[in-house]
Amino acid sequence: MTSLEQVRQLSKIDQIQIAGLIFGSEQRAKEVKQFLADCEKIPEVQTNADFYNWSRKKQFLSKDKQGFSFMKMINNQVDDMEQYTGPMIYSATTNHYGVYLAMVVPALKILGTQEQINAWLDDLIQIRKAACYAQTELGHGSDIQSLQTTATYDKGTQEFVINTPTIQAAKFWPGDLGILANWALVFAQLIVDGTNYGVQSFMVQIRDEQTHKPLKGIEVGDIGPKMGYQVKDNGFLKFDNVRIPKFNMLAKYISISPQGKVMKEGDPKISYASMMMMRKLLNTVYPKAAAISLTIALRYSYTRQQFTNDKGVENSVIEYQTQQHKLLPLLANLFAVVLSGNVTSKFVDLNFTEVQKGNFSHMNACHSLLCGTKANYTHFVVNCAEWCRLSCGGHGYAHYSGLPSIYQEHSPNVTLEGENQIMFLQLARYLLKLLKTSQKNPEKIPEQFSLFKRINEILSFKCDQFQTSNILSLLESSVIHLITQTGMKMMQEIQGGMNPKAAWDYKLGTSLWESANYFIEYYKFVCFQNTILLVTHKQTQVVLTNLLNLFGVTILLQNPLALLENDVITQQTMKQLRDEYENLLNLIKPEALSLVESFCLADGGLRTTIGRADGKPYEYTYDWAVNENSLNKIDFSNTVNQLKNCRPKL
Ligand SMILES: Cc1cc2nc3c(=O)[nH]c(=O)nc-3n(C[C@H](O)[C@H](O)[C@H](O)COP(=O)(O)OP(=O)(O)OC[C@H]3O[C@@H](n4cnc5c(N)ncnc54)[C@H](O)[C@@H]3O)c2cc1C
Repeated sequence: MTSLEQVRQLSKIDQIQIAGLIFGSEQRAKEVKQFLADCEKIPEVQTNADFYNWSRKKQFLSKDKQGFSFMKMINNQVDDMEQYTGPMIYSATTNHYGVYLAMVVPALKILGTQEQINAWLDDLIQIRKAACYAQTELGHGSDIQSLQTTATYDKGTQEFVINTPTIQAAKFWPGDLGILANWALVFAQLIVDGTNYGVQSFMVQIRDEQTHKPLKGIEVGDIGPKMGYQVKDNGFLKFDNVRIPKFNMLAKYISISPQGKVMKEGDPKISYASMMMMRKLLNTVYPKAAAISLTIALRYSYTRQQFTNDKGVENSVIEYQTQQHKLLPLLANLFAVVLSGNVTSKFVDLNFTEVQKGNFSHMNACHSLLCGTKANYTHFVVNCAEWCRLSCGGHGYAHYSGLPSIYQEHSPNVTLEGENQIMFLQLARYLLKLLKTSQKNPEKIPEQFSLFKRINEILSFKCDQFQTSNILSLLESSVIHLITQTGMKMMQEIQGGMNPKAAWDYKLGTSLWESANYFIEYYKFVCFQNTILLVTHKQTQVVLTNLLNLFGVTILLQNPLALLENDVITQQTMKQLRDEYENLLNLIKPEALSLVESFCLADGGLRTTIGRADGKPYEYTYDWAVNENSLNKIDFSNTVNQLKNCRPKL
């Protein structure tokens, strides 16, 4: 029996129930497991072990087959976010056409009229029209309102003229643009009769659908190699007065009469709707990449042995407290992220259902929550990949471990779809607004932010003796102290003569960031705690509660300042928190493997030699080095001899 099997057999948890929580229901978990098992059997969806020895061109070309095989497997059901789980797991890198499926299709459905949806949706889904999401420009990304591409309405012909007036206005970064796209959803300033009506979205054909050559007035190409994302053709795009029909402006919430009268309806934030959908994807599907990292790192940590114990027997590295300290808080955070991501996802769906009916009342809360969770979760996935790599020593650095590619491919997520810092600031703005609402109209505070209804009670909370039942109160206390302090700091700056925008930009940034991030940690804890209530299996509930407590205690130990500064806790409480942390590491260790294996990840999707299910890291690592590494199939003898002759004689 291998050591992994021994650990599995000693586990007391019900993995099926946990998988049900992770994937939304036990039925859904079964379907995902089946889907992943199907992926294991189809060679086209697997990533070749030698992938990282290939040139960028060969990597790029290999992706088409993989992408289309996935599309076939999911039967083009691009509506269901969970359908991205397979492609995200099995591809060592991002896939072709991912941006248009995840962003352009939702944008059309949300921002387009029924006529426009009828005109384009089918062609988009069948990839006859492959459209990229062309928003970011060389000069501006985060500040969308300052984009410089123009769409000027010509009444005479009832067309828009799309133009790139400056070098900063060139579109830069859109994925799928450089090589693949023949259409682009272009974000440009709408100009009618000299008046600017803000940034709107336009469907623009950029390449011929038959020859794939750029159309007249279009300059387009790939921006060059990047840190990761080598198979994504992030592109540049310039327009020289390109004409498109009036029909091509997405017009569900803004329309223009033939004479040039502009009519708007609904909340202007709706124009960010497709970004919200992409953030939902980043929140629900992409965190599962952290489950890949942790499955690999935990399996390896149980099988890897270094140094002996007092009886002369070699220790598995997971026995060392420092190894547990590296990995187990990440495991707890993974559950907090995934379970809170599920709750947020339902809220996003509710918001969109209501928006379709013309009710925008959830929009602010939903947008703010998505901003904060996106920033927190994407940072977590990248940080988790790096710590998992470190926890696997030398082998973690090899691509064959499966870990470096997760770090590389998930790093951009902290920047794209809203740079994380800006995302936290957006949530912080909303939290400060809630502070005011709590004084005047507490009944208007949304459910997800209900702690703002109890501000006085929370501010008076003190904790002299730590117990795990206090964790939630301590998290609430940190959030409310941080945000009220930030609010007071803002008032002081304004009273001192600073204008609010300057105070925000130059004096409050770090406090705002800290408040927003802490709020998300608190929110994750609450969602995790509520989800555990659904568990019926007693021992599973006990283990998940320990995991929840480990998550909470870790957050409190990492960021205790607000509690100490405001005398909420004493030095004695801090010591008790540390003791509890060590106790929880001990309690979680025997169940860590089974907990992470509840994510149902199969070997092909892990793309690893050191973290496979049968726990034989050395056999696979040696085998891949000898048999999969194409460098070993090349006869270098002549080349090396020639090099020898070139060496200077010393
Ligand atoms: C791999 C990848 C794929 C992409 N795909 C697409 C795509 O398909 N379509 C598309 O349109 N775009 C795409 N982008 C672009 C991406 O959306 C932007 O790069 C992103 O929104 C960040 O904007 P920025 O580059 O302008 O960063 P900046 O805003 O310039 O950020 C630079 C720094 O300034 C800070 N900063 C900026 N403003 C403030 C402020 N007000 N307060 C405090 N700090 C501030 C930021 O925190 C950051 O540290 C992609 C980018 C990458 C890397």
